[in-house]
Amino acid sequence: MADKLKEYEKRRDLKKSGEPSGGKSSGKPIFVIQKHDASSLHYDFRLEIGGVLASWAVPKGPSTDPSEKRLAIRTDDHPVDYAGFEGVIPEGEYGAGPVLIWDRGDIENLDDDSLTTGLKSGHIKVRLKGGKLKGGYALTRTSKPGAKQEKWLLIKMDDDHADARRNPISTQPESVESGRDLDEIAKDED
Ligand code: MN
Repeated sequence: MADKLKEYEKRRDLKKSGEPSGGKSSGKPIFVIQKHDASSLHYDFRLEIGGVLASWAVPKGPSTDPSEKRLAIRTDDHPVDYAGFEGVIPEGEYGAGPVLIWDRGDIENLDDDSLTTGLKSGHIKVRLKGGKLKGGYALTRTSKPGAKQEKWLLIKMDDDHADARRNPISTQPESVESGRDLDEIAKDED
């Protein structure tokens, strides 16, 4: 597990950045989506797989409409405790800018294969049990395995929670933990 976090640890000075360094699974796998205003605004979609948070940067954020395909770029695995991180990554550190917990909750694997196998094969189907997002989501790798920046697509599965009219990215921009938006988080840290 420490090996999986090598890239995460290499990219930042954890004493300066104030970000989490470890954490243990509670036993129930979780997801978190963090809205992150770094050099460009994006949503970090993270699923607990194999003791760490497998991560993707989703520029447009997740949709509740099954006809919408959202680009998801695989990024470094993050420690499990990162799911509780909300605050500001300081100037000069990797990903500098405010981070808010946009949604979080438990997940349930909907595929016959394990999530670890799915991450390798490029096919993941999970049920999200969040405050804003519920129901099935599929992640499918579209780039060749081992590509430097793996490209995936994040797509809402067509189930009872699919809703083409909802747009929680714009109607529910605030943190599910604190109710704050990114500007308030940035101000609070000043
Ligand atoms: Mn990010």
